[in-house]
Amino acid sequence: LAKQTGGGSYEFYRPEIGAKKAQRLELLKALRRALDQREFVLHYQPQVELASGRIVGVEALLRWQCPERGLVSPERFIPLAEESGLVVPIGEWVLRKACAQARIWRDTGYPPLRVAVNFSACQFRQKNLVELVKAVLDENELPPECLEVEITESVLMQDTAASLKTLQELRACGVSISLDDFGTGYSSLSYLKRFPVDALKIDRSFVSDIPQDEDDVAINSAIIAMAAKLNISVIAEGVETLEQLEFLRNEGCGLVQGYYLQRPASAQDLASILRNGKTPLT
Ligand code: C2E
Ligand code: MG
Ligand code: MG
Ligand code: MG
Repeated sequence: LAKQTGGGSYEFYRPEIGAKKAQRLELLKALRRALDQREFVLHYQPQVELASGRIVGVEALLRWQCPERGLVSPERFIPLAEESGLVVPIGEWVLRKACAQARIWRDTGYPPLRVAVNFSACQFRQKNLVELVKAVLDENELPPECLEVEITESVLMQDTAASLKTLQELRACGVSISLDDFGTGYSSLSYLKRFPVDALKIDRSFVSDIPQDEDDVAINSAIIAMAAKLNISVIAEGVETLEQLEFLRNEGCGLVQGYYLQRPASAQDLASILRNGKTPLT
């Protein structure tokens, strides 16, 4: 069996491809089981305000503790969950779990924290997404200001009118929206005009080589300056060194997140750090 590919060359059937497909099916089967079997857990990574050095929020990051595979990275299973639609129930679980945890932190007397939850584009095609978010906030007696929804540019590109409406409704009820992996997608700046977002998250790929890489320096400065003019906040992801942090501070970046400050960790492991809201910067 031969299939024509773009360059006029032929790609022949290879057994490895069949094996890969089988592997994906296996992974999908295991993923379906994971929700029922409580194999998911959330880790949290602090988001730090540069001016005060304080933790103002945490991002909830999904972890899959698979009995056969060990800890599986979301980079591996989220795309599969998106293709199969499983990301909708998984996303609902993440939202519920993150809000329940936010409630626990409040009850324990921690300084108020905002919890950021990643939503994928498929979740935005859910008809009742806004109702779900409101219900979960209500059930946990949380003010909407303590929830931030992280979306990627792909959300803005698909089904534009419906996405716009959902974003507007979320914002109208007080939930904030941040644009994750900013600069890596296919979106144009006109999306920033049309869609209501509260924050831009500078993608890690632009942060890793500052301050050595001149192009990355320029990109960071430009994003930070643009966000300031648009009156929205900016958060740099993947800050791993003090040098990067100092550069971002000098450029006027408001918030940072990255291994230099804190790796993502279980709620339990973060307890003492979150209790006093302090970081290596304070
Ligand atoms: P993201 O939302 O852009 O999350 C940031 C990723 O960068 C996380 O990877 C985090 O652990 C990692 N990171 C943070 N600081 C540093 C750093 O200083 N250096 C480096 N090298 N990495 C850093 P993670 O947890 O593996 O998640 C990967 C992606 O999976 C996320 O990217 C997000 O797109 C997706 N994801 C994670 N949890 C969820 C979820 O609950 N729902 C959805 N839809 N997607 C999720
Ligand atoms: Mg994110
Ligand atoms: Mg990101
Ligand atoms: Mg990402």
